[in-house]
Amino acid sequence: MKKAIYPGSFDPITNGHLNIIERALDIFDSVTVLISINPHKTPLFSLEESLEMITEATQHWPQVEVDYNEGLTVDYARRNGISTAVRGLRAVTDFEHEFSMALTNRSLWPDFDTVFLMTRVDYMYLSSSVVRQVAQLGGDVSQFVPSTIERRLKAKFV
Ligand code: ADP
Repeated sequence: MKKAIYPGSFDPITNGHLNIIERALDIFDSVTVLISINPHKTPLFSLEESLEMITEATQHWPQVEVDYNEGLTVDYARRNGISTAVRGLRAVTDFEHEFSMALTNRSLWPDFDTVFLMTRVDYMYLSSSVVRQVAQLGGDVSQFVPSTIERRLKAKFV
C-alpha cells in the first residue's frame, strides 16, 4: 500500500486542492487529507466544520481519509507509518516556502519525502484566502469551490 498525507490549512478546501487530491490518487493507494492546526492563526472555519467540509467534498473517493494534526507533520506521519507528503505548486512564489518546508521535514525524519504536483493552469491563482475574500465581499465563488462549500461560505457572511 502506497500511502500519502496531504497536509494544509484547507480554510476552506478549494477546487485547486481537490484537483491535487484527485491526481495524487493516481499515484498513491490512499491519501489522508491532514488539516494542520496553526495555533497562531484563527481560521474562518472551525476544525469541526473543516473536517465535515473535506469529508463531504471527498466522499466519492473511498481512498481518501480526513484527519487533523496539532504538532509536527512528520510526527503525525511517523505515528501513522506514512513517509510521503503531497503538496501542490502554483507559481514560482510557492517554491521557496515549499522547498524549505520539504527539506526541514526531511531533516527531522530522513525517510520522509515530499511529492509536488503542479497546479492545473486554471487553478493557478486559486487559494483559500482569495476564496474567503471574494465570498466576504458577496462575490460568486461557484467556480472555485464545490457547491457544499459555497453554501457554507454564504452562511458565514450573511
Ligand atoms: P498551507 O497553509 O499549508 O499552504 P493550504 O491549504 O493553503 O495550506 O495549501 C495546502 C497545499 O495545497 C499547499 O501545498 C498549496 O501549495 C496547495 N494548493 C493550494 N491551492 C492550490 C491550487 N489552486 N493548485 C494547486 N495546489 C494548491
